[in-house]
Amino acid sequence: MSAGPTGTLRIAGGVDAAGDPIDLTIVDGRVGPGPGAVGPVAGDVLDATGLSVLPGLIDAQVNGAVGHDLTAEPESLWEVAAGLVRFGVTAFVPTVITSAPEARTRARDVLRSGPPAGWAGAVPLGLHFEGPMIAPARKGAHPPRWLAAPSLALVEDWSPETGVVMVTLAPELPGALDVIHALAGRGVVVSLGHTEAGTAEVEAAIAAGARMMTHLGNAMPPLLAREPGPVGHALGGETLTAGVIADGHHLDPLMLRTAWRALQPSGRFLAVTDTTAALGMPPGEARLGDQEVVVSDGTVRLADGTLAGSAASLPQCLRVIRAVTGADLAAAVATCTVVPARLLGEPDRGHLRPGARGDVTLVDDRLEVVATVVAGTVVHHASRTES
Ligand code: ZN
Repeated sequence: MSAGPTGTLRIAGGVDAAGDPIDLTIVDGRVGPGPGAVGPVAGDVLDATGLSVLPGLIDAQVNGAVGHDLTAEPESLWEVAAGLVRFGVTAFVPTVITSAPEARTRARDVLRSGPPAGWAGAVPLGLHFEGPMIAPARKGAHPPRWLAAPSLALVEDWSPETGVVMVTLAPELPGALDVIHALAGRGVVVSLGHTEAGTAEVEAAIAAGARMMTHLGNAMPPLLAREPGPVGHALGGETLTAGVIADGHHLDPLMLRTAWRALQPSGRFLAVTDTTAALGMPPGEARLGDQEVVVSDGTVRLADGTLAGSAASLPQCLRVIRAVTGADLAAAVATCTVVPARLLGEPDRGHLRPGARGDVTLVDDRLEVVATVVAGTVVHHASRTES
């Protein structure tokens, strides 16, 4: 089902995240003023009876999905984007990790060229370059031979206009503060991550314009009594929005609850999946890039058990958040709708007020995705997926 010739889709019979009845009409890709205001609806009707009607979910950190890795295979961007709608995602930030410079160039070329004819999927909001300006001692799975020192020349043409909306770097590296200042001045979200930074270095980075922290608690120093470092600054400070991998595996439940209590009241808890090509792949042995992995229960592990990225979906993270923190649905959903929309400067995403983009995710009471709507077009419906 897609919006009919009238360009109108009505979503009726459901409730919003707060549990109140909601009746949406989407006209020409935007949420209309209400069912009465456009007269009798001539377009399609999507029955949401018994379902929650949520703003389309936004995943701010996606490395790949459905068998494709965006760094190894930037040309798979539109296939990844098409695959994400099964998981309720209507917009996302594709992530290219530390790699040969060609991967970043290719990713931007693919984004600039736009989707192939007839494509439908989640909308990429611009790229996240995670690395190469990161700390060798905290590189995680990033290939060491492609790490690079911060330099203004390296980031000369990185800006939202050229397809770069987010950059993760380590602020303690020589030259990093100048790079942060330059990127922030162009409107790029600078995120601190894969870092050895101390408290003073994080403060300097914030003063230079950094606004975010990448996967809180992972690939950074621990919180200490007299050296709170990046984690302490995210939790105790007032500036940084922290990406939190709430897959139930990357953070201990107590750490997740601590992050929730510190960050959620001020809208700085950003739920991300950090998901990989393993998302949507059947459980069992798989090959990701040049590594043999085992996909099981939302995790991706090397043969020795080491976590190798996530296989989590955003609804799975929302289930974890609710179970661990006791949050109601509206508060949990805000962490991957309103929060990323605000961080990324996308004021007409993340909510369903009149004039918003007609991006909607329908879930049942177990947070299973039933339907996904992008700009008023139904791009996924669970009952029509099984063949
Ligand atoms: Zn990372």
